[in-house]
Amino acid sequence: MKFNENLHKLDNQDSFYVVSEKIRKYKENHPDNKVISLGIGDVSFPIIKPIADKMIEAIKEESGASSFVGYGNYYGLPELRKLIRDNEYPSFDIEEIYVSQGTKSDVGDILELFDKDSLIGIPTPNYPIYLNSVISLGKKVKLIPCDMNFIPIIPKEHFDVIYFCSPNNPVGITYSKETLSKWIEYAKKEGAVILFDNAYHHFVNNGIDSIYEIEGSKEVAIEFRSFSKVISFSGIRCSYYVIPKQLHRDINSLWRVRTINRFNGASYVAQKGAIAYFDDLSKKEIDKNISYYLENAKILKDGLTSLGYKVYGGENAPYLWVKSKNNLSSWESFDYFLNTLEIIIIPGVIFGKGGEGYFRVSALGKREDILLAIKRIRYDEETK
Ligand SMILES: *Cc1c(COP(=O)(O)O)cnc(C)c1O
Repeated sequence: MKFNENLHKLDNQDSFYVVSEKIRKYKENHPDNKVISLGIGDVSFPIIKPIADKMIEAIKEESGASSFVGYGNYYGLPELRKLIRDNEYPSFDIEEIYVSQGTKSDVGDILELFDKDSLIGIPTPNYPIYLNSVISLGKKVKLIPCDMNFIPIIPKEHFDVIYFCSPNNPVGITYSKETLSKWIEYAKKEGAVILFDNAYHHFVNNGIDSIYEIEGSKEVAIEFRSFSKVISFSGIRCSYYVIPKQLHRDINSLWRVRTINRFNGASYVAQKGAIAYFDDLSKKEIDKNISYYLENAKILKDGLTSLGYKVYGGENAPYLWVKSKNNLSSWESFDYFLNTLEIIIIPGVIFGKGGEGYFRVSALGKREDILLAIKRIRYDEETK
């Protein structure tokens, strides 16, 4: 009997484990101290009432004899698909929009679309799930280096599939029109497909918030979005993605067949909640939350910059990417922040070897924690 030995190769889950173990031990030894987390990759606001109410209604429907809803929406509820189309993808057909249960699994599942010998490219550093999905399925993969500003460098060689994340987790930057245009040109030339993880598009105020803003992208790109960060659905699970009909030959209809056979639809209750997001009132309230996170990011960016740190991102994304001081490695910075400042950050190297020497700071926490964190770092710098 043989198992999928590739699963042994997913070592960076260990790294997140090391992070949580170090934190656990520190807290155990200092039970009375307040450790501030700037490490979180989850949202901190609860689900707003209009959305929660819609989900409660949906549960009541599911428990009524005549209103019960069972299977039957492989691609998503028509009402939700239409709202997504009308609000976010007006130039697409509804059949090009798929509703699912989370971008984390979507970006791995989409690999079923490609031949087993496809060569997959992943810019480094990046959201670790791309590499782990590819490795766990035993696909061929190569990392794509980034330039000094963490923009992926166009390769000389051929790739079949390339992962992008913009706004990027962990780097916190959005790719410019120029960068994306060049990559679309490359993809066209190579007959490649770009997988565009756009989970943080709601955070973009200035800049490109969809790859489909770029000419020619419908022929080469699949875009993924998630309700997790915008309406605090990280525990509820609902996401969506676009497979344009123009993409290569008949990929969209191929994916419809795949989906019927491999997927039974996203949760009815979750989708009903997601529908409520598109009400003007919900949107307004949600926009307030997003602005709050972005203001957090600004406070962190200004604070860290004024203390002499080189900071990337944090303008159209809830993450900041910070260069370690004094040539500390990612892990050394982590230890220093935890043991000296009692602040949790994430070592950049966890996001791939391109992240060594950096660390990620999250703005998804509470304002008072962020202000206190900056105060601690400042005090430490000034008393050294
Ligand atoms: C948080 C996050 C997601 C969201 O995944 P879900 O499974 O929809 O919760 C996707 N991609 C990136 C880069 C993320 O940071």
